[in-house]
Amino acid sequence: MAKMKAMAMLGLDKIGMIEKEVPVCGPMDAICRPLAMSPCTSDVHTVWEHALGDRQNLILGHEASAEVVEVGSLVKDFKPGDKVIVPAITPDWEAVESQMDLSQHCYGMLNGWKFSNIKDGVFGEFFHVNQADGNLAHLPAGMDIEDAVMLSDMVPTGFHGANLAEVAYGETVAVIGIGPVGLMAVAGSVLRGAGRVFAVGSRPNCVEAAKFYGATDIINYKNGDIVEQILAANGGKPVDKVILAGGGLETFEQGVKMVRPGGIVSNINYLGTGDYIKIPRVEWGLGMGHIRIIGGLMPGGRKNMEYLARLMTYGRLDVKPLLTHRFENFEDIEPALLLMKDKPADLIKPVVRVG
Ligand code: NDP
Ligand code: ZN
Repeated sequence: MAKMKAMAMLGLDKIGMIEKEVPVCGPMDAICRPLAMSPCTSDVHTVWEHALGDRQNLILGHEASAEVVEVGSLVKDFKPGDKVIVPAITPDWEAVESQMDLSQHCYGMLNGWKFSNIKDGVFGEFFHVNQADGNLAHLPAGMDIEDAVMLSDMVPTGFHGANLAEVAYGETVAVIGIGPVGLMAVAGSVLRGAGRVFAVGSRPNCVEAAKFYGATDIINYKNGDIVEQILAANGGKPVDKVILAGGGLETFEQGVKMVRPGGIVSNINYLGTGDYIKIPRVEWGLGMGHIRIIGGLMPGGRKNMEYLARLMTYGRLDVKPLLTHRFENFEDIEPALLLMKDKPADLIKPVVRVG
């Protein structure tokens, strides 16, 4: 069997380059080679917070733009040589859950998340995509392969946060965490018509990017309690919606404390550690406040990629400010991943361009 190089989780807290068999293509599937790749904070949770338990030689990564090198006999719309956007989440579209608009949970909780979870991820010289027609999208003319990588996960996750929060015209929205995911939640909220957006973070690059994406107020969590800071800035009133995209389990409590009756606390954070989330009884209206708490994995699939890509093609969303660190060799995926772990002050997102 042909072998390839890949960046893998070797075990808890350990990553390294390995050799592994090139994946085999099923009749509805595709084999792709990455053109550009980006490590994610989720890879960090997986390796260094042990969020998925011990995994040996699991190829990491779920963010890539790619070129198709092989397709199965039943694939209709893709052929070798096509350049594609690859969503981090690649559901089984025939599942009942998918027919219930919960494709992220096809055949069970989070099962639409296949890359670097229930099968190898995209940080190999080749990777496998299930149900190519339903999960890949053609790279639009003129879209840079680096920008396209942000469509794998950062854009759909951040926008999912804004969708789950049901952000509407004129609303006040607090986005807790302005790493790349939170920044896209700011952008998604603004596109949905938010009136005022409080963005919570501290790193100067992220603060500047949050302003670029339309945050009206910056709140630094290092300067004191964010609930107090946001309520004070909002004239003592709670906000309409809260999106959790950073921080830990305590942000749920904070979210409930800062949202109005009937408001929504929408979580897109991947909770890598801890057992329980606390909901403050009094601020939750003694259980009767109509405050909804919801958390969701980004929706994958072709349609979502095509629609989000249109926002970029027609100038409504610019992902370039997210890309702060660039690499050019396949092996550089390792330092890029370590950057994501260490989060230097000037980092938003690294990208490794190999195509
Ligand atoms: P980053 O680590 O880049 O950003 C985290 C943000 O949270 C930063 O702005 C950070 O501020 C801020 N923060 C840290 N601590 C606190 C605190 N105590 N209170 C408030 N804010 C705080 O993460 P990403 O943007 O890359 O990812 C965000 C989350 O989304 C991760 O958990 C990731 O795994 C998850 N994710 C979820 C997906 C989904 O489908 N739901 C998909 C992809 C990712 P500072 O400026 O100080 O760094
Ligand atoms: Zn990710």
